[in-house]
Amino acid sequence: MAEQAPATGFTTSPLRLIPYQERLQTPVKDQYGRAMTYLRISLTDRCNFRCLYCMPANGMQFQPRDESLTDDELLRAVRLSAEVGFRKFRLTGGEPTVRPHLVDLVRAMKAMPGVEEISMTTNALLLGKLAQPLADAGLSRVNISIDTLDPVRFRFMTRGGRLDLVWKGIEAAAAAGLTPIKLNTVVVKDQNEHDVVPMAELTLDRPWQVRFLEIMPLEGVGEVHDEGLVTSEQTQARLEERFGALKPVEADAADPARLFRIKGAAGTIGFISPISEPFCAACNRIRLTADGKLRLCLLRGDEVDLRDMMRAGATDAEVIDTIRGGVWRKPWGHGIADGDRNTVRGMSQIGG
Ligand code: SAM
Ligand code: SF4
Repeated sequence: MAEQAPATGFTTSPLRLIPYQERLQTPVKDQYGRAMTYLRISLTDRCNFRCLYCMPANGMQFQPRDESLTDDELLRAVRLSAEVGFRKFRLTGGEPTVRPHLVDLVRAMKAMPGVEEISMTTNALLLGKLAQPLADAGLSRVNISIDTLDPVRFRFMTRGGRLDLVWKGIEAAAAAGLTPIKLNTVVVKDQNEHDVVPMAELTLDRPWQVRFLEIMPLEGVGEVHDEGLVTSEQTQARLEERFGALKPVEADAADPARLFRIKGAAGTIGFISPISEPFCAACNRIRLTADGKLRLCLLRGDEVDLRDMMRAGATDAEVIDTIRGGVWRKPWGHGIADGDRNTVRGMSQIGG
């Protein structure tokens, strides 16, 4: 069941002009009082993998390039988001490492007032060469998607990906200090549900966090979700059968992962359960799609356009008001468990 939305207690939107210095110190809040400090930015809808839970086998449509934000538009959107109080920025996609000028973009973002942390979610295929330049440019850490340690199954699940290169990318990230390393594993029935054990074993002697995700039914992969969903509860039971009871570990309130540790392990295990246990109350995030829309909730269709207004000559103050207004109307609850699949974009287009 979706979480119940609290009463807002507000009758008007807070679209008042706030002086620059005050804006840099005051997080922008939505109508439910949730402070939005975390912007996830999709740098591109393109990818060098075709993961079976993310993209359909056939007929994947990519946006024409001129629909994506240019580097200047992207940097302006980030600068203005930082002005309204966003502090943490995550680069994602699609595959963020295929975006041209990635290192320069990171360097430029990191130099902006208010930008405290930049992280990235990546499949790591290109990290072997990029990890160190990205760290030097100001990237703090990475989450890496890897669903299995079996190279044959890896190739099948990513539709062609090379596990050896991804592993080199993970090692390069660790060597470059892009830590703590977090690995994301989407668990799919009849694919990698048994591979969760070797994935969890990685935490025994490494200070990594291995996170198991439930599949979400986004555009193009609804059937994979319907047939392949493995709940966090099922994954936890499988791990406890092998490792004994997992010990809960305290996590940051805004972290969607519930954390545990195998007895004596150096690292931790996380469960991300958007389907079985939605985490809307602690949500502090908004997404910026590659084509310049603020996506207010991953699992709802509501979006606010920034690209067209920037292209039409909007002033900074007008763009800021639009960001604040979008944040204000961020919805509560995705309702997927109730059968609401109100989305027309796939995960790679939204920026998962
Ligand atoms: N390409 C990068 C990567 O794979 O890490 C970043 C983008 S990818 C869309 C971001 C995250 O979304 C990955 O961890 C991926 O496993 C996850 N993901 C993709 N499709 C999903 C789905 N249908 N349900 C749950 N997670 C999904
Ligand atoms: Fe590409 Fe990431 Fe989607 Fe896999 S999950 S197809 S790597 S965007």
